[in-house]
Amino acid sequence: MMRRCEEIAALLYQYIDRELSEEEYQQVEAHLDECPPCKHVFKLEENMLTLVGERCRRVCAPEGLINRVRQLSGE
Ligand SMILES: [Zn+2]
Repeated sequence: MMRRCEEIAALLYQYIDRELSEEEYQQVEAHLDECPPCKHVFKLEENMLTLVGERCRRVCAPEGLINRVRQLSGE
C-alpha cells in the first residue's frame, strides 16, 4: 500500500534526520521508489539541508514542501 505524497512530504525532515521508525522509513523508501516527483523533492531538500546545515531546518517547515509535492504530483 502506497502512502500519499503529502504524508511522505510530512516525514521528509524526520527521514533526513533518521528519526523515523524502521517501518516509517521503509514506507518512505518504498514511496520514493515508485514516485519520481517525491524522490526529486527529497533529493533537492536533502542536498539543500546538507548545504545550509541546521539553520533552515524545521523553520522552513514542510508546508511549502507539501505544496510543491502536490504541484509536482498533480494532486
Ligand atoms: Zn509521491
